[in-house]
Amino acid sequence: MRAVGLHADVVVAISRAYQTTCTLVRSGSEAFVIDSPVFPDELEILPAIAQQAAFPVAGALATHADWDHLLARYAFPEAPLGCAETTAARLIARPGEAQRELRAFDDEHYVERPSPLSLPGAQSLPVPGHCGIGEQELELHPADGHTEDGMAIWIPWARVLVAGDYLSPVEIPIVSETGSASAYLATLDRLEPLVEQADHVVPGHGRPVDGTRAAAILREDRAYLQALRDHGAEAKLPLARRTGAQRDIHAANARKVAG
Ligand SMILES: [Zn+2]
Repeated sequence: MRAVGLHADVVVAISRAYQTTCTLVRSGSEAFVIDSPVFPDELEILPAIAQQAAFPVAGALATHADWDHLLARYAFPEAPLGCAETTAARLIARPGEAQRELRAFDDEHYVERPSPLSLPGAQSLPVPGHCGIGEQELELHPADGHTEDGMAIWIPWARVLVAGDYLSPVEIPIVSETGSASAYLATLDRLEPLVEQADHVVPGHGRPVDGTRAAAILREDRAYLQALRDHGAEAKLPLARRTGAQRDIHAANARKVAG
């Protein structure tokens, strides 16, 4: 797992699985962990990374309820989980979904966990809205379309946007079963003014990128989704994201918008 510092108060760890990102953010003597790495060894070392950097983690936030973003409790079992109302609603409506999908991943990759994933009730946060941390506030923005739920987190004093599963340099937009291309496009419109002010953008998957690069990815993703909506499977993939795995995602996207 790689860790990069983006600001005195922001450190990002990048998992070996799907380049899933985990962001540590701090204000004064309070820190939060946003999303999570995936492998047990990565989760095990995360508290040491936080401690070495003097980030006393008091809470966990999840950008959305996909299983790969919900594993912070393995690292910080005491930290209460906060998420958007849409995400809290999804966790209640489909209990056990994250655990099932985690088990499927672990079975496929022969991964052993110290315990099953426990997800006690999440605290739902008002989105759009604010979330206090130390002497500062995080800004929470709705980010649905990839799935039916989610939020992006703007860290104003660091000019960092934690986007959730948007604006990835390594993954094309995924419109999952419960997502929607038009909601995804609306989220990109909402994120655009934040991207324009951002020094760094942390995607859900892939290394953090600077604001200029994120703005270019945003334009590519918008063009891709518009083409997906208008032409389905015929839509062209962004030039730098045309691997076999991305073509498979594209095929699933095309089935979703056709159905
Ligand atoms: Zn994800």
